[in-house]
Amino acid sequence: MNKAVDLIDKLSAQRTLTVEEYKYLLDNRSPDVETYAREKADFFRQQIYGNSVYVRGLIEISNICKNNCLYCGIRGGNTNCQRYRLSAEEIFNCCVEGYKLGFRTFVMQGGEDEYFSDDILVPLIKKIKSKFPDCAVTLSLGERSKESYESLFLAGADRYLLRHEAADEELYSMLHPQGMSYSNRMECLKNLKEIGYQVGCGFMVGAPYQTTEHMAKDLKFIEEFGPQMCGIGPFVPHKDTIFKDQKSGSADLTCFLLSLIRIIKPNLLLPATTALGTVEDDGRERGILSGANVIMPNLSPEGVRAKYDLYDNKLSTGAESAQKITELSRRMEKIGFKIEITRGDAKGR
Ligand code: SAH
Repeated sequence: MNKAVDLIDKLSAQRTLTVEEYKYLLDNRSPDVETYAREKADFFRQQIYGNSVYVRGLIEISNICKNNCLYCGIRGGNTNCQRYRLSAEEIFNCCVEGYKLGFRTFVMQGGEDEYFSDDILVPLIKKIKSKFPDCAVTLSLGERSKESYESLFLAGADRYLLRHEAADEELYSMLHPQGMSYSNRMECLKNLKEIGYQVGCGFMVGAPYQTTEHMAKDLKFIEEFGPQMCGIGPFVPHKDTIFKDQKSGSADLTCFLLSLIRIIKPNLLLPATTALGTVEDDGRERGILSGANVIMPNLSPEGVRAKYDLYDNKLSTGAESAQKITELSRRMEKIGFKIEITRGDAKGR
């Protein structure tokens, strides 16, 4: 009997394992165990989403950031970073372009740039929602006050992505400077959920100091928090950070985690991230085949893409760009999937 296979069966039946059991799975993955998890994940995903893949147009609105997350290339303390900020008009124009290309979700992501106050964002979100009522707006703008999250939600924002980064408080504090706190991150996630956003959490795979026990806790957190979305991707070092000499996270482990997360919550919106594509050129495909059902091509104006430099070798000219959506569609069709032109909300509970 293979205990890891038994645990995957148990997870499939009960959607819950203990932290120790998750850790056992992560410590005992083999190609056979990975295949078994992938088949289960595929089965559950097919039941809910068929062979549909949802796309989101990612607009990187600013790389100006007041935080200094130790792993991140656009951290405020990086003086080598060429800063930029899109105007509300430029952001709106990205949506116009994206709509024509078939995108029905726009994701505005950026550093924590104080320029983007509610006074700027509220009218912008309202304008996007009134011009494109069949589209969803997702925000990924870091930690804000509950009042701000409320105003942005009332303006029409539908979803919010805020990776929890680490469910273990000690690891969280090793990856972030003093002044950023695990408890505030958690408070933000709780607030977003209370307000009624579709919420996304997530973490980097293979981050510095991270062990399988930490990742087991991340899985437990996802299970208990019950997000609608979850962003995970390999850690990739950035040359202007103290972690520049670290190794990238493993693509195999990322794919295994994608499968386990799909099994934990079958209707989750789970992206195959660009970071996975950085580590492997068919990362997007591998991610989808492992249980992901979302891709987020880049809709930022071409001139700024390379500047939103979270990690080294971030893709910014190839099939990840929104304009190459036909190429991406073909790549998906090759592996038996189909890109859908819809908002792509989570189905079922
Ligand atoms: N400021 C926003 C958006 C952050 S960027 C926020 O705080 O939520 C989006 C994600 O990129 C982060 O949550 C982080 O998990 C990931 N990221 C940052 N640096 C990275 C790196 N070096 N390797 C891989 N992923 C990274």
